[in-house]
Order: sequence, then C-alpha cells, then structure tokens
Amino acid sequence: MSYLEMLTDSITKETKLTKEAPLNSFNSFNSYSDTLADAASEAVTGMNQYITPEGLLAKLVPCDIAELEACTDPLPFLRSFAIACVWTDFRRQGIAPPTWGKPATCDKCGPVYLWAPIKVAGCPWCWNRLHNLRIPRPPADEVVL
Ligand SMILES: [Zn+2]
Repeated sequence: MSYLEMLTDSITKETKLTKEAPLNSFNSFNSYSDTLADAASEAVTGMNQYITPEGLLAKLVPCDIAELEACTDPLPFLRSFAIACVWTDFRRQGIAPPTWGKPATCDKCGPVYLWAPIKVAGCPWCWNRLHNLRIPRPPADEVVL
C-alpha cells in the first residue's frame, strides 16, 4: 500500500479533520504558473478534504515558490510537502499519522506512537507535550522500554 493510499485510508476511517486556513495568502492561486498550479492540484489528490491546492501553495515561502516555478517536475516535492502538512495537522490534533503505528519511547514524552519501535531522546510529540496538546499513547503491554 502506498503512502497516499495509507493516508487516504486512515483519514477516511479514523479522523474528521478540517481544512486549515492558509498561513499566508499574499499570492492568489491564479498568480502561479500552470505547471505549479497543476502539480499542487495533483499533489493533494486523496487529501482534498484536509488541504487545498491553494492552501498547499500558500504554506510555501517565496524562495520555495521561485525554485518550484523553475522546476520541470515540482510534483514529488509538493506531494511530500502536502503529506507533511496534513500529518502535522494530525499531530497537532493528537492523532498519529498513518505510518506512525509503532509503539516507541521518547525520553521526554514517555510511550508514544512513532514510525518504528525505537527509543529516542526527543520526538515529534514533544511539540504537543510542550503545548499541552493530546498525545496518543500505546497500550502498556506494547511499550518499548
Ligand atoms: Zn517526545
């Protein structure tokens, strides 16, 4: 199963996230090249309920946009960036992203779900801990010590 299939499957079954407003909107969608706009539209395929092409491009900083406008195939970057944006939204809402299903242990957070059953000094859930946001926890019998 591809990342996109896993993401789409997980989103459909487990979550009711809402679209996040773009961080900045100084560029209207029509100001991007057709290549970049088309790539952004394709990059959010399967994630349309969580991020729009306009929202994806609005999260880029101007120097990223300039490089992507000059790129012959911006889709791989935009697809990865779209997944990262949606997964960040998941994490901020206390929901483990689709491939973070392995019980792990963070020195700061304790038992958490990550992408591998590992022990780490710090983890992405540390951000949630520091902001008093929810952290999903694995069952006690699955904890990595
Ligand atoms: Zn942590």
